[in-house]
Amino acid sequence: MSAVVEPPAADAGAAPFCAWCGGARAEGDHAACERRLATVDPPRHCPVCARRMVVQVDPVGWTARCSRHGESAGTNGFA
Ligand SMILES: [Zn+2]
Ligand SMILES: [Zn+2]
Repeated sequence: MSAVVEPPAADAGAAPFCAWCGGARAEGDHAACERRLATVDPPRHCPVCARRMVVQVDPVGWTARCSRHGESAGTNGFA
């Protein structure tokens, strides 16, 4: 039996949840969410578990921390 291993939090492209609204990526339209994430806004939800993350924005970028999956970081305009 081989179970599918969930990707790490950093691999947001394959993660099951939208990092902006926390909804399931397979349901609904997240084009607007992805546009925001690609331009001005840091993610607010963990893409792996959809928990709300603690987000800090600073002049050079942002860090977002999930209580289960740890910290991820990016820079402004990280499309
Ligand atoms: Zn979304
Ligand atoms: Zn998480």
